Amino acid sequence: MKLTVHRGTNEIGGTCIELQSGTSRILLDFGMPLVNKSGNSFDFAQYKSLSVQELIKQGILPDVKSAYSEKPEIDGVIISHPHADHFGLMQYLSKKIPIWLGEATHRILKLNNIFLRQNNKILNPKYFEKEKSFTVGKFTITAYWADHSAFDSYSFLVEAEDKRIFYSGDFRSHGHKAKAYKWFLHNAPKDIDCLLIEGTKIGQKKEKHKTEGDIKDELAGLFKKSESINYIYTASQNIDRLVSIYRACLTSQKTFVVDVYTANVLDTLSDFARLPSPLKGFPNLKVLFPNILTTGLFKRGYGKMAIKFSKYKITKEEISRNPSDFVLLVRPSMRKDLGKIKTDKGNLIYSMWEGYKEQKTTQQFIDWLKSKNFAVYNIHTSGHADINTLKEFADAIAPNAIIPIHTFHKQNYKNIFSQKIIELNDNETFCF
Ligand SMILES: [Zn+2]
Ligand SMILES: [Zn+2]
Repeated sequence: MKLTVHRGTNEIGGTCIELQSGTSRILLDFGMPLVNKSGNSFDFAQYKSLSVQELIKQGILPDVKSAYSEKPEIDGVIISHPHADHFGLMQYLSKKIPIWLGEATHRILKLNNIFLRQNNKILNPKYFEKEKSFTVGKFTITAYWADHSAFDSYSFLVEAEDKRIFYSGDFRSHGHKAKAYKWFLHNAPKDIDCLLIEGTKIGQKKEKHKTEGDIKDELAGLFKKSESINYIYTASQNIDRLVSIYRACLTSQKTFVVDVYTANVLDTLSDFARLPSPLKGFPNLKVLFPNILTTGLFKRGYGKMAIKFSKYKITKEEISRNPSDFVLLVRPSMRKDLGKIKTDKGNLIYSMWEGYKEQKTTQQFIDWLKSKNFAVYNIHTSGHADINTLKEFADAIAPNAIIPIHTFHKQNYKNIFSQKIIELNDNETFCF
C-alpha cells in the first residue's frame, strides 16, 4: 500500500491523504487550508476566480493525479466530518468520483450551500454508518464515531493488501460524546501498521481541557446571576456547544433564542439525535428572524426555510420587554438587529477559539457591544484532544508506527508517543 499526505504533515487544516493499492486509489478528506504560506488565516475569496490549474500551481489545490479530470481514476473520497478544513475544496473534484460521508454530514453541506453560500453539490453521495465496513475499490473501510466539535465526525480503519491503517480524523474526549470515545478505547482495532493521528494541541500549552459539562455549568452560573440580557457568540454548527447552552438555559430558567440559520441546523440534525429543535416541542427555544438573513432567503427562493419557524418567532420588541429572560445566539452580521433590542447593559459570552478574535469583524463587534455596556466573558473548550488523550488513544490502538497529521509541530510527536514516529512531508509517498 502507498500513502501520500498531500497536505497536513506540517499544518492544521486542508487535510488530504491519498492511499493506493495496485491501481485502486482513494482520498481521505479534501480540506480547505486554514492558513496561507505566511501562516496567516487563509482567505479563499482571493482565489475563487482561479482555474484548477492555477490553484494547483499556487499550492491551494493538492496535485492529485486525475482528480479534476473528465476520467478520474479515483475510487472514492471519504470525508471524516463537516468542517471545511476537511471537505472545503471538494467542489473542484470531478463530479464522477463517489463521495463517501455520513448522511448528517451531507445534510449539513446542503445547508452550507444555502446559508453559507458554499458550492459543494454532491452528485454521487454514498453514506457510511459507524462500525459497518464498506468497500471502496480495493479498500475495506470501517468508520468509528468520534467525539468532536463537529456533528457526525468519524475516524477510519482502512484495510488493503493485509495492511491496516487508522486515521483519527479530528477528535477529543471531553465533549458530549465522551462515551463514544470511552467505547473506542475498549474496542479499538488492533494490529495496525500505521496510525495517522491529529495533533492540533501538540506544541501548545499542556493543559487539561474543560468538559462540555463544565461549560454548561459555567454558563448556567453566569445566566443565573445576570440581571440583563445574555448574548453568546458561538458557531451555529458546534452542536455540543448549542446543547450546553440549551441545558444552561433550562437550569437558569432562560429562553434560548437562535436565529433562522441555527434553527435550520438544529432542526435538520434532530433527525439524527435528540437535539433541542423549535419544531420538536422544546418550549424555551425561540427563533429570531434577522433582517438581512431572512430577506436574503426569500430573495433566493428559500423562504420556506424561514416560514417553517414562524410559530416559534420572537421579535426584538418582545425581547426588549424582559431582556433578562433571554440568551441570544449572536454573530457580527446581526449587529443591526441587535441594535434594535432595547437594553442598557448585558453580557457577551465569547464561546469560540480565541484566534478568531483577530478577525476585524469580530473585534469590531466585541468593541461595539463593550461600548453598549456589555461585559465580555470567555467560556470555551477546544474541539481537539489534549496531550494525555492523544497518548491514551494511540496506546489503545498500539500501532507499529505513527504518522503526524493536522499539526504544526510534528517534531514534538516523538516526545509524546511511545510508538515509532514516521515524519512525512507533504506529497512524499510512503510504501508499506
Ligand atoms: Zn480539522
Ligand atoms: Zn474538525
